[in-house]
Amino acid sequence: KDEVNIISGALELRKKTVADVMTKLEDVFMLPISSVLDFETMSEIIKSGYSRIPVYENSRGNIVTVLFIKDLAFVDPDDNTPLRTLCQYYQNPCNFVFEDVTLDIMFKQFKDGHKGHMAFVHRINNEGEGDPFYETIGLVTLEDVIEEMIQAEIVDE
Ligand code: ADP
Repeated sequence: KDEVNIISGALELRKKTVADVMTKLEDVFMLPISSVLDFETMSEIIKSGYSRIPVYENSRGNIVTVLFIKDLAFVDPDDNTPLRTLCQYYQNPCNFVFEDVTLDIMFKQFKDGHKGHMAFVHRINNEGEGDPFYETIGLVTLEDVIEEMIQAEIVDE
């Protein structure tokens, strides 16, 4: 029964897109690059429980880098290190995918290591008067794709 589920889940990957399974931008835990890594901010990061935190400049749609929790290993909260300093040191890249990319393609990219194991989902916004622009609408991780494949929630530790 499990096998049948997984096989049909794998076949369904071609029919679903990253937009169907992503975590929406408004639900993403992220930090402004102007943050200071004091005790309060670091506690909040740890409390969030996520291993990767998108970092934005000015507006939440403008993600500029990603903070990995492991990057905090040498940070002393008493030093009040600016997040910007840490981000400039590690320079973790952000990966983007279009909202209509199907999950079989996304899975292959994650598997081959092209997109890390997390990608930001964007679209071209050409509504309105001005020039078209890229709009970030969410994030997708390998876990989101695997959950779709096995058709079950993965319960995090
Ligand atoms: P983690 O390693 O942080 O547990 P996973 O890759 O296992 O992250 O993803 C678990 C779920 O959490 C997925 O649904 C993913 O979209 C979501 N997720 C990952 N990072 C964040 C974040 N910073 N804010 C909100 N949701 C996130």
